[in-house]
Amino acid sequence: MKTHFAPFTDLEDIEQAPCGTWLGESPELSGDWAEVDCLLCQKRKERIIAAAADEERFIVEQMGDMAAFMRAEG
Ligand SMILES: [Zn+2]
Repeated sequence: MKTHFAPFTDLEDIEQAPCGTWLGESPELSGDWAEVDCLLCQKRKERIIAAAADEERFIVEQMGDMAAFMRAEG
């Protein structure tokens, strides 16, 4: 069985690896690229990392908006 990359902390709810592979009942997942031997994951590595970075930026942006909102309110 291949080990797929999974950056998530909540592994219980994962049905599909970031590479698009549907996972079975006991999926092999790792947040460490050195342990990932799924070729699809490795091939999409940069895109997966970029997507995670995008999400992070979005969350940070939202938090910034909220902080600005609260400053404006207060
Ligand atoms: Zn994979």
